[in-house]
Amino acid sequence: MTSLELAASVDAQSRPVKPVPGHPLAATAIVALIAVGAWGATAPRAPLPTLAGGKSAGPLAVVHGGVGSPPTVADGPQAAAAAALAALARGGSSLDAAIAGTVVLENDPRFNAGTGANIRLDGKTIQMDASLMTGEGRFAAVGAIERVKNPILVARAVMDSTPHLFLVGEGATTFAHHIGFEDVVPTCPEAEAKYRARMQRLNELYARTDTTVYDWRRYWNFPNPMPPDVIAWRKQGDTVGTVARDSLGRFAATLSTGGTSVTLYGRVGDVPVYGCGLYAGPAGAVACTGEGEEIIKRFMAHSVYERIAAGASARDAVEQAVRDFPQRFDLGLIAVDRNGWGVAANRPMAYGMKGR
Ligand code: ASP
Repeated sequence: MTSLELAASVDAQSRPVKPVPGHPLAATAIVALIAVGAWGATAPRAPLPTLAGGKSAGPLAVVHGGVGSPPTVADGPQAAAAAALAALARGGSSLDAAIAGTVVLENDPRFNAGTGANIRLDGKTIQMDASLMTGEGRFAAVGAIERVKNPILVARAVMDSTPHLFLVGEGATTFAHHIGFEDVVPTCPEAEAKYRARMQRLNELYARTDTTVYDWRRYWNFPNPMPPDVIAWRKQGDTVGTVARDSLGRFAATLSTGGTSVTLYGRVGDVPVYGCGLYAGPAGAVACTGEGEEIIKRFMAHSVYERIAAGASARDAVEQAVRDFPQRFDLGLIAVDRNGWGVAANRPMAYGMKGR
């Protein structure tokens, strides 16, 4: 841990907490505080499984490995944050840094992006989404792209080489190959193992009679036939993301994902949807991970950015958003503002932060 990270974690632990309006515990907490005459001091709040942040005004990068990723893989996001900071040290922009961080995790088979992207229900298809945005308002994305190793680099090419914001499906894949990206199915033994484990859990669920499940077989739209053991299971996601601030105080955010594992062919989540998976502006940058459909409905990244632009710290803004989110759905957020950074998730989430 660097001295900056140490200072940040001390700050995260020592700052006073305030009651959360609307939180289910808030009413109880208020009654308890009035009873002891302590209103205005501190109110108890259930700790979030992942919460960190602090002050830092220099160049910095924060990376997440997806909500649900265990702390045991935090070396991945930490290495990614170091790569992002190195890009800044070389004189790169916040966008260069945010891309560098996300490429590291796209190349790490432990994460659901690029090489480690989820194999879908047919046991063959891999469809990926990626997006980027700068604080100056530049945005680009690819959705349901196949057969490329680094979708975030294709998103950058969409921004640099086309008049478009968003390319999807076969058009995105063909564009990538046409401009020189290798035609390669980005898989690895780790992704194959995850697929097999998932199918085993599907079978276990299928054997149960005490639960109702969505029957994916009914709407099968994959280009490949249905494996005999496909049935319903809750979605499994994880996305990787980076937010960065450069020495000129400019912000950027990037995201990349193999999407959720149990979906119909062609499903696209929040990652490439403008203002939902990520957002950046002159006041900061925000990147999400979690239940894409719920993130989209809340216009999540833009909502968190608006809080930062209105004066909240990145740390307070991400914490509040996670507390306001229905606990039954996964959500993780990273953000950076002019003076600091924040990480919050309602599940464990591996992350890394590096700053100067
Ligand atoms: N948000 C991603 C999606 O819905 C998945 C995740 O972050 O876990 O595609």
